[in-house]
Amino acid sequence: MKIRYSNQNIIFNTHTDQIPYLSVKMLDDLGVPNLYSTRFQSFDEQRNEGKEGLRVVVMKHEDAAEAAPVVFKNRDALARQLGSSIKQEAITDQMHTNHVYVVTDEDLGPILRTEKPAHRRNIDGLITNLPDVHLTAFGGDCPPIYIADPVKHAIGLVHAGWKGTLGKIPAKAIERMTTQFGSDPRDLYTAIGPGICIDCYEMGDEVYEQFSDQWGRESADQIFRRYPAFAEDGKEIPGGKYHLDLREANRMTLLEAGVKEDHIAVSNVCTMCNADIFYSYRAHRMENEQAAMIVNRFNV
Ligand SMILES: [Zn+2]
Repeated sequence: MKIRYSNQNIIFNTHTDQIPYLSVKMLDDLGVPNLYSTRFQSFDEQRNEGKEGLRVVVMKHEDAAEAAPVVFKNRDALARQLGSSIKQEAITDQMHTNHVYVVTDEDLGPILRTEKPAHRRNIDGLITNLPDVHLTAFGGDCPPIYIADPVKHAIGLVHAGWKGTLGKIPAKAIERMTTQFGSDPRDLYTAIGPGICIDCYEMGDEVYEQFSDQWGRESADQIFRRYPAFAEDGKEIPGGKYHLDLREANRMTLLEAGVKEDHIAVSNVCTMCNADIFYSYRAHRMENEQAAMIVNRFNV
């Protein structure tokens, strides 16, 4: 099974006996190995169903001793499907910041989010030009954003929940790639990975106000819509509630950062609409997420 991003609905493709994953065709075409995992460890073609429970992350400190070996084994297996390994991995801290970090050799290897060197706390974006190194972020509704520079042979990966999106973390990563590696935004290929869709993503008025303050009302009105909403007693809330379009918000940020429109792939795969396939925080509040990975390797 390999699900590709598509403008159609998601497609299950059962042509592999590996761990199932989605990938971005635009990056595949550049020879940049990339993936977004699912709930499934494997897929049984004959029964047309997946074996669930691919744990890739430890979210609570107290689970670490028991879960770490499983998590590292699964992440290593995923990375090996991209021709890398966990020895070549750097991960984000998933703190909902807009901080971007330049990966060094010392950051590579099996690391838990719950046990990181002090200098790497509060990082939601990673960039690197180290060859064959892969970057990993996690998401259970927050989309990952993949960045590839086939000219400077550098990559970036960010975790973009609403706070990182508000702080324009994809633009921060691109600015850093520009100063660090000499990247030109017009050369970059980017993809907004699977994550929660606008229909599923109800937000409080205060989130709209924050975007309106920082992005301006006109931009906020392009990414928020009012939906009908009901209180617990079943009564309709007058005026409804705001919903946020994280995909469009990050697409706008990438365009503003100078990325060409046809170099932005946008996934239409919603983790909450497809909670049978993906771990979704809003759907289940589960102790697991998906892994997003990108390897710094190009065929150009
Ligand atoms: Zn949805």
